[in-house]
Amino acid sequence: MSVTCRVTTSRKSVAGPCAVCRKDLSSGIVYSTVMIHLGQGKYGKARYVGAKLHLGICLATWLFRDYDRFSYREKKSVGRPIGGLLSPEDRQKRYHLVRTYDRVLRYIDNTDDIERIRMLANRAEGLMIQITAVGGLLNRKLSRRSSVTRERIILKLRKVGMYDGR
Ligand SMILES: [Zn+2]
Repeated sequence: MSVTCRVTTSRKSVAGPCAVCRKDLSSGIVYSTVMIHLGQGKYGKARYVGAKLHLGICLATWLFRDYDRFSYREKKSVGRPIGGLLSPEDRQKRYHLVRTYDRVLRYIDNTDDIERIRMLANRAEGLMIQITAVGGLLNRKLSRRSSVTRERIILKLRKVGMYDGR
């Protein structure tokens, strides 16, 4: 049961339907009201939603559904995976290598000097070997580089006889 949920029991004065079985809660019957506190609304007024139920299987059903609703709510992790299998030292090392690798690719993107591209491409290749050794291949999907920039870099790498694919 959610923490903001409260159950009260009282005797019905005005007849009305049960929120679970939809059958009548006749006047004079002992029944249950469950109230869920929804937090504060406008002007700081507390907001509630309530359900009137038969005291018995209907209340049990309602509580079970409520339990279901809150206990199976999955927390989805958002953002980039943090590489949970790596030790903090390795994670730091890989992070540093990936940053360096990305910087080298940016240098390649910024030059047209074929000798410089060749030198940088060699460095990038060496870095990629080191990156792969610490936590495996890079996941291309996590790269923020646009496909246009990537194509441009790949063309330059091909000019010097290398293709990295990233
Ligand atoms: Zn009922």
